[in-house]
Amino acid sequence: MYRQDLYKNILVIGGNVSGLAAASQAKRVNPQAQVTVLESGKYISYGSCGLPYYISGQIKEFNDIFTYSVDFFQKKRDIKVLTEHRVTGLDTSGRQVIVNREKKIGYDRLIICSGSTPRSLNIAGQGSENIFNFWNVSDTIRIKDYISKEKPKNAIIAGGGSIGLLMAEAFHNLGIKVTIIELAGKILSDYEPEISTIIYKVLALKGIDVTLSAMITSFGKIRQNAAGSVTVAKGPQAIELDTDFILLSAGVKPNTPFIENTSIDTGPLGSIKVNKNLQTSHINIFAAGDCAMIKNLVTGKDELIPTANNAAKTGRIAGANAAGSSSTFEGSAKTKTDVFFGIEVAKTGINTQEAQALGYDPVKVTGNYPSHIEPVGGAENITVSLTVDAKSRRVLGAQMAGKESVSKRIDVFAAGITSEMSVDDLYMLDLSYAPLVSTVWDPINKISGKAILELSKRKF
Ligand SMILES: Cc1cc2nc3c(=O)[nH]c(=O)nc-3n(C[C@H](O)[C@H](O)[C@H](O)COP(=O)(O)OP(=O)(O)OC[C@H]3O[C@@H](n4cnc5c(N)ncnc54)[C@H](O)[C@@H]3O)c2cc1C
Repeated sequence: MYRQDLYKNILVIGGNVSGLAAASQAKRVNPQAQVTVLESGKYISYGSCGLPYYISGQIKEFNDIFTYSVDFFQKKRDIKVLTEHRVTGLDTSGRQVIVNREKKIGYDRLIICSGSTPRSLNIAGQGSENIFNFWNVSDTIRIKDYISKEKPKNAIIAGGGSIGLLMAEAFHNLGIKVTIIELAGKILSDYEPEISTIIYKVLALKGIDVTLSAMITSFGKIRQNAAGSVTVAKGPQAIELDTDFILLSAGVKPNTPFIENTSIDTGPLGSIKVNKNLQTSHINIFAAGDCAMIKNLVTGKDELIPTANNAAKTGRIAGANAAGSSSTFEGSAKTKTDVFFGIEVAKTGINTQEAQALGYDPVKVTGNYPSHIEPVGGAENITVSLTVDAKSRRVLGAQMAGKESVSKRIDVFAAGITSEMSVDDLYMLDLSYAPLVSTVWDPINKISGKAILELSKRKF
């Protein structure tokens, strides 16, 4: 039974993926509710995922970054969106948020959708004019303006994860020589080595330098508030690299400083703990998107899985429940994909190292298969890596790289992992076939068959 009468004043913190999904769904569930979104920045409803393509010039028009306007929400959805309203504090007993350190706004139900923010390297000089974070529209404008005014010739990127690599490609396409410094022993550190190596080789071909197992320890040659070099520590060695500018892309943390003085239960890095209804430890406060922990469907444990797809879904469910519904979010298979220099990479589930750490008995197999039958021409190689638990025969994770049909194939594994399919189920799964799109045994069937063969060699 909905208690819509109780939840008339719904407040949402954050005006992007999860926040706008939450606000819209709250209004759908309870059209009588007054729904207000507070956004700290000037912009709302931007596709973060498209920002690297605006920097590279592939997206030409600034307005094409945005999906909906403040006006759209007011006129079409009767949702009030207040930009430049940063929530700086939260009074849970008085049910009010503090905005811009002064104004107080009350709520019956609050939905926290404040996303995440780049992690700091904690090095002096980080505020220099040519050292950039990259996460939102304001960062994007700053970087684009800098590049058009200063015409830099080279850049150092701290971090070889998805965002660092997307930006490496964007800068490369603008004629900027890029060096990536990565702390881990491989780029895309959550991928299996055989998958991340494919991208590593592509970067080398493009002339992008990558230094692995290394970290930036200081910024040097600071003149007119701009750094002209970085010091990089690699084992016992320290080297100084000259650069025109630096991009920091060393992971993200939840954007939740305003809950620090509350009793809301939190997890690592200040992430917000929620139940299946996306409800926090406070009954009238919900959280969704990058700032909230969600259940990993393979491990059953809660963790941070910051993707746009999870943000949109959890936002929608948090919004519905804040308005009086009782929908559940079961969790995420941790599926993600990226395209670097025309190569799709995608993964779902957990990798072998994670599986070992969690006490599984993982068997990993890797194979190379054509994307469709070769005689018709145009087939591209797909590299697949599959991790299966030897005891239960459950598929724990899959990863792929190739020029085509990779991410949608990984989605089949995502469905299999979500429904706890065994490797035997996936081997015999009835997948579509025609010469121009696949092979009679699709790469998904083939890698599953290879894993079954490997399992048969195991003695229990
Ligand atoms: C360059 C880039 C590329 C990406 N590519 C992909 C991709 O291809 N696929 C994918 O799945 N994911 C991708 N992501 C990640 C994806 O964008 C995020 O997971 C998603 O935006 C999270 O949505 P969110 O609503 O939780 O947070 P956000 O989109 O970050 O929105 C949070 C909003 O809250 C506001 N806010 C923060 N603090 C406050 C406060 N105190 N008061 C008021 N407002 C506040 C912020 O200004 C922000 O607008 C990418 C991210 C980036 C940066």
